[in-house]
Amino acid sequence: LVVLGIETSCDDTAAAVVRGNGEILSQVVSSQADLLAQYGGVAPKMAEEAHLQVIDQVVQEALDKAKLTERNLSAIAVTIGPGLGLCLRVGVRKARKIAGSFNLPIIGVHHMEAHALVARLNERELQFPFMALLISGGHNLLILARDLGQYIQLGTTIDDAIGEAYDKTAKWLGLDLRRSGGPAIEELAREGDAKSIKFSIPMKQHKDCNFSYAGLKTQVRLAIESENINATIPISSASSEDRRTRADIAASFQRVAVLHLEERCERAIEWALKIEPSVKYLVVSGGVASNQYVRAQLDQVVQRNSLRLVCPPPSLCTDNGVMVAWTGIENFRIGRFDPPPPSDEPEDIVVCLKTIFTYDCF
Ligand code: ATP
Ligand code: FE
Repeated sequence: LVVLGIETSCDDTAAAVVRGNGEILSQVVSSQADLLAQYGGVAPKMAEEAHLQVIDQVVQEALDKAKLTERNLSAIAVTIGPGLGLCLRVGVRKARKIAGSFNLPIIGVHHMEAHALVARLNERELQFPFMALLISGGHNLLILARDLGQYIQLGTTIDDAIGEAYDKTAKWLGLDLRRSGGPAIEELAREGDAKSIKFSIPMKQHKDCNFSYAGLKTQVRLAIESENINATIPISSASSEDRRTRADIAASFQRVAVLHLEERCERAIEWALKIEPSVKYLVVSGGVASNQYVRAQLDQVVQRNSLRLVCPPPSLCTDNGVMVAWTGIENFRIGRFDPPPPSDEPEDIVVCLKTIFTYDCF
């Protein structure tokens, strides 16, 4: 079994070829980091244009690196949501075009399910049921994965996701946004004193597993204003005193942002074990899970509760084609796929896949 995975849900155009045994034959990601830095966020029309410019090349490169042609593929997997409609469509069109031309089945993949399931690619012992904390730019989800396609939501964000808070904090601190905000904050935080600024932990009074980062974002913005930090002066040109203040804010923000995760995970484990006492693993995935501090802190929570933490390698935590191909493989194996589309299917009707899975949870 050899599957090509295509991912275009947000600002990365990604493709990968993966074998049924989990072997990654190729992995290609083209990021729109320059566009993001220029406009300070993702503008759907521009992102669509950027995907259109590189999609053919990215897919071709994935096939070339795998030393395969379309004829060697068993199926094509493509992200069908959630994400920006205009961007998703670029990937879906490309996938259907190849599938139509080469008579290949096609698998519509849920982006968040892919973030969770990719953990099973490297970790063969990771069987259902398991828990997953999915932390990224648009989502904060705590789920109990009971089986393939069966997910119970234990908690979600009521406003912003943690990745959004990292990205805004980086922007307000004048960090280099040609890479995403998360890694920039993680690096600067290493220089700072995490206890120097007393941000309060969100939703302490709510004894549930939901998340909120909008209030913490506001606390950070106010702290930045009261310290008179001028974000138009890049950190590379800041005085050493100014740099120190920015590092203190980054470290203090990160500490509290992660304390919020720790507190929610602690409770979610308690809830999950009541439903499925055989749970042994907490998967942490999504872009923010590539953060070493986040991993270390959550590892402590998990160990305290006699569970094991599973984090995919950083390149599989941020958006990638491997997770889409792998989720395609898992679904293909249980017969969840669409037949090949007609080879003469007009491009403009290609707006949705028939395989729309609805998960109560996601
Ligand atoms: P979603 O999966 O919710 O649709 P997305 O697809 O845009 O969002 P991902 O690629 O899964 O996002 O994650 C991107 C987010 O992860 C960004 O907010 C980015 O700042 C954050 N991120 C990436 N690396 C790190 C890191 N080392 N520390 C903290 N955050 C990080
Ligand atoms: Fe993502």
